Amino acid sequence: MEQEQIHGILQLSGIGVWRIEMEEGKTPRFYADAVMDDLLGISWPVTPEERFTFHRGQIHPDDLQLFLDYSSMLSETRSEIVYRYIHPVSGEMVVRCSGARDPKVTDHISIIGTHQDISETARLEKDKLAERRLAEMNRSLRKEQVQQESFFRELMDIQSCGLLAYTLPGRRILHMNAEALRMFGVKNVQEMQENMATFLARIYYPDPETLSCLRVLREQDSYVDYECILNPGREEECHIMARTKTFTVPDSERVAVSTFLDVSDMVMLREALRKAEEGSRAKSSFLFAMSHDLRTPMNAIIGYADLMAAHWEERDLAREYLSKLRDAGCFLLSLIGNVLEVSRIESGKESLQEAPWNLDHLRESVDVLMEEEVRKKNLTVTTQFDLPRPNVVCDETKLREILMNFMSNAVKYTPVGGKIHLSLEEKILPDESGAILNIAVTDTGIGIAKEYIPHLFEAFSRERNSSESGILGTGLGLRIVKSFVDLMDGSVSVDSTLGKGSCFTAEIPLRFADGEPHEHVFGEKVNVDFPFGGKRILLAEDNALNAEITSTILEDEGMEVETATDGAAAISLLQNAPEGRYDLILMDIQMPHMNGYQAARVIRTLPGERGRIPIIAMTANAFEEDRQEALAAGMDSYVTKPVDREKLLGTMAEVLSGRRDAADKE
Ligand code: ADP
Repeated sequence: MEQEQIHGILQLSGIGVWRIEMEEGKTPRFYADAVMDDLLGISWPVTPEERFTFHRGQIHPDDLQLFLDYSSMLSETRSEIVYRYIHPVSGEMVVRCSGARDPKVTDHISIIGTHQDISETARLEKDKLAERRLAEMNRSLRKEQVQQESFFRELMDIQSCGLLAYTLPGRRILHMNAEALRMFGVKNVQEMQENMATFLARIYYPDPETLSCLRVLREQDSYVDYECILNPGREEECHIMARTKTFTVPDSERVAVSTFLDVSDMVMLREALRKAEEGSRAKSSFLFAMSHDLRTPMNAIIGYADLMAAHWEERDLAREYLSKLRDAGCFLLSLIGNVLEVSRIESGKESLQEAPWNLDHLRESVDVLMEEEVRKKNLTVTTQFDLPRPNVVCDETKLREILMNFMSNAVKYTPVGGKIHLSLEEKILPDESGAILNIAVTDTGIGIAKEYIPHLFEAFSRERNSSESGILGTGLGLRIVKSFVDLMDGSVSVDSTLGKGSCFTAEIPLRFADGEPHEHVFGEKVNVDFPFGGKRILLAEDNALNAEITSTILEDEGMEVETATDGAAAISLLQNAPEGRYDLILMDIQMPHMNGYQAARVIRTLPGERGRIPIIAMTANAFEEDRQEALAAGMDSYVTKPVDREKLLGTMAEVLSGRRDAADKE
């Protein structure tokens, strides 16, 4: 292609052509075509030297050094540069300049080249670069954000504090951490979102003020600290210390953030501590009451014994003191009985001993036991019995104890001249499989304060202690009643007005018995019309006082008594005496060296009549297990201590005549 043609094409493409001549000691000369001058912004006539100077002056100062390096390179080799040129009219432009030394010129340096405005391309490239850079930055920002988010999420998830953030209104959950999911018992945020209303309804606020404070937060940005219970009564029940804060996110919605701290363990500990403190308070006040209540009958016993000694000759007076002394002893005994009973209940040992029984006997127990007290206080006692099918299966002792507790309280807490009404009603079940026995005792006594009623059935609890009220008691009776009724699957209730009177009711479900029950009438005077005279009794008893009392009772009936101080001594007496010397052994249970059970077992292994000798256990433990154990050790019957003369003689008569209690032999 001809040089002219090339030049034409270059011109059309907007590429300027130039030539620079450099001679030592002279200003370089810069030749340019019209396009080139356009590009340089030279619209007036200039000399090549002026063009050269002008061009240098318009190079962007930041690129000047680059350009100079390039220029010096051009004298050696072909080269290209992109630099910024300040066009006098259109301002900064990016130009690409290519040049090479003209090899034909040898006496000085002649460089020819092209000059092209690549501002547009450069801009595009710059934009692209910027875009790429931006994308890159965005990518790394996003990565950083994701990392940060997961960091914060993790940070929130490791919190022992639950966190729930949601919009107001609309309740769109923005965030919920792992602890909050656990507390609400949900797997994920979606589950919570779908059931939000249900979950929020399951929060119980012990302080009634809380809800109205939270309502205020809906309208106004603030915060509330409160306590609440999540899922009350459920397995997931959680006691929470919470803070809810509302605020407005700039240019966005209002947000509520709640933090929840699970304080269930603390609440449990606090409750346990409260119970322990309450228990120890109740026990100390019980001990206080006990020491008072034990002292009162003890003082009476010692006092009356002294009085008796002083008035020994005045028989009537002495007899009266004696009877009072016995009353005090009986009270002491029932006190100890109650304490034992409660300790059995509290250790979970109490169980039902059910057998067929006739409910009509409940009437007799009232008559037998209450007579004396009622007479003394001039109380009017009325009764109403409606027992259409009295043959039932029940634990007669416990049933009687419930009734007696109600009755004795009514007598105790009703002042002189008051009224007591007992109603025993059997409501037969529709399917006739059994009945509900309703025991109700109403009195016109001192009544019970409303505030005290929730504590009535607690052990060792009394509305007023004995020194305040002057009425003896330990606060154990109703506790015993309540646990007996519970054992029988029944219920107990009270209705009382202070100063007017009370009504205690127990409702107990009972099954009907098949046929007539085995009769054993409570309070019946046992048969002591037995020829005891001349019977020889071996008494095993380590306590000298008890031994003396028992021996005296027996000797008064004409019996001969030989005493052993423990089980082993009793066995050796029996073995060393001729066969048939003793008619019966009375065996105390708790003795040193060898106790009553062990001794009985050994005796039953002896040959001949010795091994078959009737044995009656005398035990201070009045519970069913003790009776069972005595029978299991091979004894024939048992009596409880302190020894009741008639009961002892009655049991001995039964055993000696061979008419042993059938039930005992089962
Ligand atoms: P105690 O009679 O030995 O104190 P209880 O457990 O039988 O024990 O009764 C607990 C308390 O309940 C009594 O101390 C008394 O304050 C109150 N109480 C029981 N029964 C009556 C009643 N019929 N009238 C008034 N108060 C009663």
